[in-house]
Amino acid sequence: MGSKINYQDVINSIYHDICSEENIGHIANYIPELSKVDPNKFGVCIKTVENEELGIGDWQTKFSIQSISKVLSLSLAYKIIGDSIWERVGVEPSGNAFNSLIQLETDNGIPRNPLINAGAMVICDMLISHTENAPKEFLNFVRNICANRKINYSKSIANSEKSVGYRNIALCNFIKSFGNIKNDPKLVLDFYFQMCSIEMTCQELTRTFMFLVNDSFESPDHKRVLEVNQAKRINAIMQTCGFYDESGEFSFKVGLPGKSGVGGGILAIHPNKYSIAVWSPKLNKKGNSSRGMKFLESFTTITKSSIF
Ligand code: GLU
Repeated sequence: MGSKINYQDVINSIYHDICSEENIGHIANYIPELSKVDPNKFGVCIKTVENEELGIGDWQTKFSIQSISKVLSLSLAYKIIGDSIWERVGVEPSGNAFNSLIQLETDNGIPRNPLINAGAMVICDMLISHTENAPKEFLNFVRNICANRKINYSKSIANSEKSVGYRNIALCNFIKSFGNIKNDPKLVLDFYFQMCSIEMTCQELTRTFMFLVNDSFESPDHKRVLEVNQAKRINAIMQTCGFYDESGEFSFKVGLPGKSGVGGGILAIHPNKYSIAVWSPKLNKKGNSSRGMKFLESFTTITKSSIF
């Protein structure tokens, strides 16, 4: 595209088109606290490598990022531990629901990838083994790359999820039975529920994920977050595994690496161009934000900025 794209005009126009359509889907209610969220919230933010930061709607309202946090815990574990993390978790799309137990039986407790619940629990277990205080170090890591000390866990959401977390508790104990959880499953689950409860705005999400967009990104303390080669791999995993069993569809329609969460957030990356976050709590049948999917499909179509 010859002339510079006016991203503000593009996001405004898609936003208003989508607002004029029916808001379809269902809010995640299996975590009681999440069912209290206003289903009509809708926010978008884009941040470019040129440092443009543009938003519309509820882009500065905090929401529960849920599984989007799994990319951040994976990044921290990769940074601290390196390539040996791949001995305990795979890099293949699961083609199953995010909380499925099925493949673990045949795969001997090695989760298919780090972005499904089972894989994220194994990553949490690694972080507990390799840090003094995993919840504290994880939060510090996120605050540091976002340059925002106010980012925090939500106790009410973590407790709410824990109170009904029967399937996650089963998953963690099942993996433990294969020896792929080294610590006490209760500790691992507490950290897992906390990690998922982090709250951020769309604006904070786009800032946080710039380390996967920009090869020369440094955190405020002038440290590289990941090696270029590591960032490449994390983006590849988001591309193939970031949207539950709708990852192929997201690649097909949107064509960017990304990750969704059951709080209705979607974060997507265009390496060397921008990060973009959309939040709308109503989810489609596969558990991804309905409006978020629609928005991003239109966005990469209009701006011709799919990576393909
Ligand atoms: N904490 C949620 C769970 O384990 C995360 C799900 C998601 O956002 O994919 O069920």
